[in-house]
Amino acid sequence: MSWSSQMTVPFCLQCLSMINDVANTVAPIRFFDPALQAIGEKVIEGSRLSLEEGAVLYETRDVHGVCRLADLVRRRMHGRVAYYNVNRHINYSNICALSCSFCAFHRKKDQDGAYEMSVEQVTQEAIKAEEAGATELHIVGGLHPWLDFSYYTSMLSSIREAAPSLHLKSFTAVEIVHLQRISKRGKEGYEGMKSVLRDLRDAGLGSLPGGGAEVFDDRAHDTAFKGKIRGDQWLDVHRAAHEVGLNTNATMLYGHVEGRPERLVHMDLLRKQQDVTLQNWAATQGISTPGSPEQVTLTGPAESYPNHRLPMPGQAGLETGYFQTIIPLPFFPDGSGLEQLPGPSGLENLRTLAIARLMLDNIPHAKAFWIMQTLGMAQLMLDAGANDLDGTVVWYDITHLEGATTHQETTTNDLRRAAEEAGYEAVERDTLYRRVNRNGSKWSLAPEVALR
Ligand code: SF4
Repeated sequence: MSWSSQMTVPFCLQCLSMINDVANTVAPIRFFDPALQAIGEKVIEGSRLSLEEGAVLYETRDVHGVCRLADLVRRRMHGRVAYYNVNRHINYSNICALSCSFCAFHRKKDQDGAYEMSVEQVTQEAIKAEEAGATELHIVGGLHPWLDFSYYTSMLSSIREAAPSLHLKSFTAVEIVHLQRISKRGKEGYEGMKSVLRDLRDAGLGSLPGGGAEVFDDRAHDTAFKGKIRGDQWLDVHRAAHEVGLNTNATMLYGHVEGRPERLVHMDLLRKQQDVTLQNWAATQGISTPGSPEQVTLTGPAESYPNHRLPMPGQAGLETGYFQTIIPLPFFPDGSGLEQLPGPSGLENLRTLAIARLMLDNIPHAKAFWIMQTLGMAQLMLDAGANDLDGTVVWYDITHLEGATTHQETTTNDLRRAAEEAGYEAVERDTLYRRVNRNGSKWSLAPEVALR
């Protein structure tokens, strides 16, 4: 079976004619920097951008030209839809064995502000979230030195039983490595990691968030994140998660001690890993892949891509997980051990989001994480490649513990207004990007999913 003859292809390789059909409906883009012209032509024809071309996108003064290009890609993948979800964050403990210099969240056990929640407390929070209509719980915490593995599986299974409609997006890669260690499977290497993930999945884990990737560069890692897992371990955890059928997100923390070239390498490593995931999946389906490793994930409107779509989660034929969303995260120096750094500017945030959209051609979604970007900036990012605003959140400690408030919350009305004011159709999704029908706190998945 070849790509061109397969009728239920989850993604296709170089499906250029279809891309051109969509791209041709977009008015030609005018650039103020002629260096962007050739890159723009590659984007329009659907070709993958090189690291050198990524560097041009970072160096050009025509930031808005870069944003317009990313907008073209975003429109052909997602039309004018802007996704959001109704979610809650639970940080079960801020006690951590590590002391990362950039982290304002962690505490030592006897330090002021240290806390840990019991399984019962977490479950009560989950019940409240479900009653309020949330579809997702985002659960992360520090690397607690004394809690044992059963705490984590009990937490998941207890929530699963008490609030079964919630999707549990839980544990960053460094937590998974920690859980492997405390479950005494550290010596089993990659297979031990997979068995930990299977246990968590069987207890109720639905997907992994993308946190803790920082930036995949050993120099930057050893300068700012020493003690945390390096990029190769982070990628291993996500590969293992995909192999046990869990979707994951990917982040990139930028604007600290890394440089722009390291960001591009980070993006390249993510898309290479996604290539492998998707090619392995294709092999399980008996779909042959041409020699070129370049892939385009076609996730756009059904009318544009009727035959080239990933099966939806839960549908037959999708046994693997994959990276579903790229989330560029700006570094916040305040309260961290790197307070002397200025942090990224608004324009750098816009540019980085747009470049991530352009470089990561095989990751379906790009998120403007309003909690860290602000809702106003996230709104602007919808025109620079983002198709997702994240959710209503309620409580986000990770970046704001030192700030005036730890209670981060917005309403669906605010998210919808932000999207609609920017000219987009606001669509509520679940964690796996399935359309949600909502009536107050009651919700269901839409029977027909018009968009991925
Ligand atoms: S970033 Fe994570 S691992 Fe590092 S100190 Fe903070 S909570 Fe601990």
